[in-house]
Amino acid sequence: MTRIITTVVIGAGHAGLAMSHRLSARSIDHVVLERGEVANTWKTERWDSLRLLTPNWQSRLPGHRYDGDDLDGFMTMPEVISFIERYAGIVHAPVQTGTTVSRVRRDAHGYEVTTSEGCWRTRSVVVATGACNVAHLPAFAADVSAGIDTLTAAAYRNPDQLADGGVLVVGASATGIQLADEIHRSGRPVTVAVGGHVRAPRVYRGRDIQRWMDDTGMMDERYDEVDDIVRLRRVPSLQIVGTPARTTLDLNALTEIGARLVGRFAGLRDGRALFSGSLRNVCALADLKVGRLLDAIDLWATERGLDGELEPPWRPAPTIVEDSPPLGIDLTSGGIRTILWATGFRPDYSWLDVPVLDRKGLIRHDGGVVIDAPGMYLLGMPFLRRRKSSFIDGAGDDAEDLSSHLAAYLESNVPALV
Ligand SMILES: Cc1cc2nc3c(=O)[nH]c(=O)nc-3n(C[C@H](O)[C@H](O)[C@H](O)COP(=O)(O)OP(=O)(O)OC[C@H]3O[C@@H](n4cnc5c(N)ncnc54)[C@H](O)[C@@H]3O)c2cc1C
Repeated sequence: MTRIITTVVIGAGHAGLAMSHRLSARSIDHVVLERGEVANTWKTERWDSLRLLTPNWQSRLPGHRYDGDDLDGFMTMPEVISFIERYAGIVHAPVQTGTTVSRVRRDAHGYEVTTSEGCWRTRSVVVATGACNVAHLPAFAADVSAGIDTLTAAAYRNPDQLADGGVLVVGASATGIQLADEIHRSGRPVTVAVGGHVRAPRVYRGRDIQRWMDDTGMMDERYDEVDDIVRLRRVPSLQIVGTPARTTLDLNALTEIGARLVGRFAGLRDGRALFSGSLRNVCALADLKVGRLLDAIDLWATERGLDGELEPPWRPAPTIVEDSPPLGIDLTSGGIRTILWATGFRPDYSWLDVPVLDRKGLIRHDGGVVIDAPGMYLLGMPFLRRRKSSFIDGAGDDAEDLSSHLAAYLESNVPALV
């Protein structure tokens, strides 16, 4: 059976639900198709101890926000799931769960959306399937020898899953450092392969770093007002963690507990993992950049006359790098039992049968308006329209902008669906 509807939203994470809220406000009839359940990725793809790294006050969606009494705390996974499930109820999102979209293609009137539960014909499609569907692994990942267990951050739940013995955590952004810390503390000696990363203290001059980035307007910076949006969309996540103690977790903190740092995992040869010699430079660059971030915050505070009420400025200690970090580890010696890939994620558009992907398999878009696909929109990607776009806090403004564009598109383009 083929059903007809004005708009199909694919994905019932917070982004798809925020779009549903804005479409309802504009009386645009729509359905939200979800392969699993509401908040599916938070239920199935996150590790047990994960907390949001954005504070509770920053969990703001159109029509719903955190309403507890711990504004500066960080939600656990069950709390995030319940927050998003409550949102789906509050906004009466017309979600059809258990419905996997297997194909979207153009037809004479708009799009045909094929799902595990039948077909839809629609004038517009909102892709809210998330930025983190599949782990992004280096090509040589497949060549790791059979004696080593490998897993991705999406498959990791807790240290009990891992064999006893050494663990090589590849990647040092938010995910990599959090997992390295937890696994090392479980008694499995961790080596962290460190590539480009972005350092930040959790708390600076008495305020959370996310509060600073919000107050200074950094989170609201727009995609069409920055110098190099292509680069900014690739910037890794801030090296921070949300804990009740609001601790800073950086490479120095990992060194302090005994984890070892090596350079970027560059390849495999004769059973050896090879690391780039760039560790010192990569860390120096991150030190420089955190200094610049804090300089910008200080300047903003001074210009507003806030210095008197804030703690004095300070700078994080430079990252400690040992004199000659190893350029390789013999993976056959038994020292490393597990490799955990925390090398980032990519979206999966294998179901998208519309020629809108670039060479890297990403949707070509202008602030979420998909290029060469009238009536198709994208939501929830890094720096889609604003720096905050991939965060829960970013979905509201982006959904408002894009639903407005979508409404104008529908008005100016009115083929009858037959
Ligand atoms: C480890 C980690 C930690 C994060 N921490 C924070 C944080 O602290 N604060 C914050 O604000 N953000 C955080 N994020 C970023 C972001 O909020 C999440 O990635 C969020 O899940 C993205 O929401 P979304 O709605 O765009 O996508 P998702 O939540 O991924 O939702 C997409 C939905 O689409 C469904 N779907 C996908 N393909 C199909 C298909 N073919 N057919 C039907 N349905 C489909 C999926 O099942 C899923 O439910 C984190 C992300 C990760 C990976």
